Amino acid sequence: MALIVQKFGGSSVADAESVKRVAKRIVETKRAGNEVVVVVSAMGDTTDELLDLAEQVSPEPPSRELDMLLTAGERISMAVLAMAIADLGEDGRSYTGSQAGLITDSAHGAARIIDVTPGRIQEALAEGAIPIVAGFQGVAQDTKDVTTLGRGGSDTTAVALAAALKASVCEIFTDVDGVFSADPRVVPAARQVPYITYEEMLELAAVGAKVLHLRCVEYARRFDLPIHVRSSFSHREGTLVMSPAAIAAAIAEGKAMEQPIISGVAADVNDAKITVVGVPDKPGQAAAIFGALADAGVNIDMIVQNVSAASTGRTDVTFTTPSGSAKKALSAIDAKRADIAFEDLIIDEEIAKVSLVGAGMRSHPGVSATFFAALADNGINVEMISTSEIRISVVTRVDDAKKAVKALHTAFGLDADGEAVVYGGTGR
Ligand code: ADP
Ligand code: ASP
Ligand code: MG
Repeated sequence: MALIVQKFGGSSVADAESVKRVAKRIVETKRAGNEVVVVVSAMGDTTDELLDLAEQVSPEPPSRELDMLLTAGERISMAVLAMAIADLGEDGRSYTGSQAGLITDSAHGAARIIDVTPGRIQEALAEGAIPIVAGFQGVAQDTKDVTTLGRGGSDTTAVALAAALKASVCEIFTDVDGVFSADPRVVPAARQVPYITYEEMLELAAVGAKVLHLRCVEYARRFDLPIHVRSSFSHREGTLVMSPAAIAAAIAEGKAMEQPIISGVAADVNDAKITVVGVPDKPGQAAAIFGALADAGVNIDMIVQNVSAASTGRTDVTFTTPSGSAKKALSAIDAKRADIAFEDLIIDEEIAKVSLVGAGMRSHPGVSATFFAALADNGINVEMISTSEIRISVVTRVDDAKKAVKALHTAFGLDADGEAVVYGGTGR
């Protein structure tokens, strides 16, 4: 008997009818002879609505209370799903993250899972029940307070539970048929990929393809646990996220085609660009800037330092950071004004990061040439560039992001003949 973890995203349980449809699917999986553990997200846009509510009450709510509020969304869906399963004659039992043994650190709003002790889930399975776990939440080991894992974190709950329970696969059910070569909401000609490596999926998730939470892919890679991304609205095959060895085996067995050079294009509009103007060009200045940012807990992505103007002996240092950290970044650097002696500090939030990801970049020349030609042909200005072995990213104006994604998708021959289906969700 196989143990399968099934996670259903918010759009899959948006209303009573959807909850009943999902319950049927879960019961079918169990009756086909499997043990099933379910992880569920908040219904529809509940999490956004709860955030809006908090904002109306307080401009900066205490993070402990915000976490308590947000975890209520998943508690609603787990309970109603358990009811729908009971109606179908199975023993659905709901558990909060804490009850399911998801132990985290105490970083409210972005907690990391540090241990999973799913004793109650195993007991429920042994009794033939279907445990339903609230996604996106845990309990802090030291403070014992309720925590959340960050937006989209239910994926990570599911993979962490699947790893702890030694499940054979973690199925992530969402509102599209799998992982596509671009966001189907932006590029209707996006192509669904049948297989993708952990490494490529990590890069895609890190640069804005929100179909999977970044940490869930990290977790799956660490435990070599396959993730099966599929739609809860259809019975199509979906996408398997696996190790290169597992994909090679599938190719050898004739189950998969040769991997494409490029796996996808993504855009992230949630970054801000900060420039520290007129930094004296001498050793230790970059260390002072990035040291201050590290002390403040600010994550940095791209970094560019201009060649210093010989006449002034000064240079500009530019970096990008998630918009949510921008205020913190500015005040951390401003606090060092006396030490660093820079001239000005500028923030630009009207930017986007557009990225191309593909393991084939390593061995195929000319990818950069095609990339920059496509942007140039569409009149898109490039403000910053960064690369990894399997990714090229540029910063553009935010208004150019969609055009850039479409242009790159076409230039790399990724356009499919048909239109990708988006079954539900508001894309919020
Ligand atoms: P859920 O509520 O099920 O967790 P999400 O909204 O978090 O769903 O993720 C699914 C969405 O991710 C899709 O509706 C799609 O718009 C978006 N998306 C972005 N990039 C991609 C991609 N490369 N492949 C598939 N979906 C993508
Ligand atoms: N409900 C949470 C969110 O909207 C977690 C999740 O859906 O994964 O971010
Ligand atoms: Mg999600």
